[in-house]
Amino acid sequence: MQLRRLEDLDLRGKKVFLRLDLNVPMKNGVIKDDTRIREALPTIKYILEHTSKLAMCSHLGRPKKGAHTEDDSLEAVGVHLAELLDREIVFCADYATEPAIQVLSRLDPGQIMLLENLRYSEGEEKNDKDFARILTEGFDVYVNDAFGTVHRAHASVDAAAEIFPAESRAAGLLIQREIAALQSLLASCEPPFTVIMGGSKVSDKIGIIMNLLNHCHNLVIGGAMAYTFLKFKGVDVGSSRVEDDKMNLVETIVRAAEKRRVMIHLPIDHVCAAEFSENSPAVEVAGPNIPAGLMGLDIGPKTIAAYEGVIRRSRTTLWNGPMGVFEWPAFAKGSMAVAHAMAASTGKTVIGGGDSVAAVNMAEVANKMTHISTGGGAALEFLEGRVLPGIKVLLK
Ligand code: AMP
Repeated sequence: MQLRRLEDLDLRGKKVFLRLDLNVPMKNGVIKDDTRIREALPTIKYILEHTSKLAMCSHLGRPKKGAHTEDDSLEAVGVHLAELLDREIVFCADYATEPAIQVLSRLDPGQIMLLENLRYSEGEEKNDKDFARILTEGFDVYVNDAFGTVHRAHASVDAAAEIFPAESRAAGLLIQREIAALQSLLASCEPPFTVIMGGSKVSDKIGIIMNLLNHCHNLVIGGAMAYTFLKFKGVDVGSSRVEDDKMNLVETIVRAAEKRRVMIHLPIDHVCAAEFSENSPAVEVAGPNIPAGLMGLDIGPKTIAAYEGVIRRSRTTLWNGPMGVFEWPAFAKGSMAVAHAMAASTGKTVIGGGDSVAAVNMAEVANKMTHISTGGGAALEFLEGRVLPGIKVLLK
């Protein structure tokens, strides 16, 4: 799989349409975390070294039809981006009626533009070709660097790219970095390769687990999904969260792992509580069986030691999904221990998006990881082995 790269385009004097992922958390019009904006900077700066004619766009949240709020407008993002770039950014709210290219043609030298939230227009999520045409008409080059959205066949990601000749489309620097890191896990990682899966549901992760069983040597399970596995094995799980109707999925995973000689690691002790509540006192259960009236909310100390050992012996480790309810301090130890063990590893360490990224940040070890994926859903779908629509249109 080879991407068309931004660096391969001749951008001199060209009008560039750039899809970014500026989908940052907002509260009362204030940006709560600007990581995604900062991740977009290298591609923006690269383009501006070659041309000043740039229109940027993104979605933000899931705005309700006809009820837009300051938390789903990209205006504050534009202001912050202008500060970070030290450039004047013209904010364009009416691009659905006035093609973006007309606004671009009126800009002063040095000004660049940012379009309002793409999801304000119905055409975006419908992958509407007419909407894509209004967005991109008159532009010379299409660049996508919105890794977090490449698994969605939306107009700015799919239909818009298709409007341009293949040689005038390219992947930005972030998409290139993400794809290279994830692809190397599937194609050329150093063994032993350990996959650590956690989070709430087996059913959400079945696709990725089944595909990764073709590549990994250890499958380490934590989080609520561990209790569905333990129940399948006949272990008592008390009132832990279990997907009783998904036992067939667990059986499929267990059989496939046996066939491929992948070792599945499950919790051997637990940190429990009587209720699913932050203030419910943490109770350690020293063995695998959880008594009635208690639910597992984190892996216990023996399990932590065992999982640390597996990580230490691995040359490649991928983590997706917390080991417990890490948002509550009494049940965060398992996830913090996995984050620290990965940080101490001399092998390659990849964080596959979502809550594991938050856990790694909480443990303050983000800078110790080989790669942290910025796109949760996109990373998971890529690792499932799917062809992502936003990547397909950027292939050579
Ligand atoms: P996911 O989005 O599937 O990765 O799930 C992440 C969520 O799973 C987090 O909000 C955790 O609090 C939650 N979680 C992890 N372990 C447990 C558990 N043992 N019981 C209930 N929820 C859990």
